[in-house]
Amino acid sequence: MDDCLFCKISRKEIPAKLVYSDDEIFAFEDIQPQSPSHILICPRKHLPSLAEASPEDAGLLGRMQLIAAKLATERNLNDGYRTVINNGSGAGQSVFHLHLHLLGGRAFRWPPG
Ligand code: 5GP
Ligand code: ZN
Repeated sequence: MDDCLFCKISRKEIPAKLVYSDDEIFAFEDIQPQSPSHILICPRKHLPSLAEASPEDAGLLGRMQLIAAKLATERNLNDGYRTVINNGSGAGQSVFHLHLHLLGGRAFRWPPG
């Protein structure tokens, strides 16, 4: 996807503070953090949102969560952390390249806003 912001970050056409990278997944610091630790975990494959994921993406989606857990451990988010996928504009999605938010370093309320 030529115009996609996160595809551009994946191709290193736009700078980002990368915290994890492999052949199919990369993760970087959110530019406008909503908590002391706020990381975005993305597949390199362009999927606009979770709604477009298919059974063949099951492993990829699982790996994204496992990478979130690994990063949370590395960052000592021992008091708890949250992983979130906003799916669709009504749920707050603003970048239409699938990404998992890893939020930590403060208390979170339930239900979310
Ligand atoms: P969404 O609202 O789609 O669930 O999450 C998109 C996230 O991407 C937001 O938290 C926003 O701050 C972040 N973001 C938007 N543009 C950029 C950017 O250019 N660089 C980085 N690192 N994060 C971005
Ligand atoms: Zn993309």
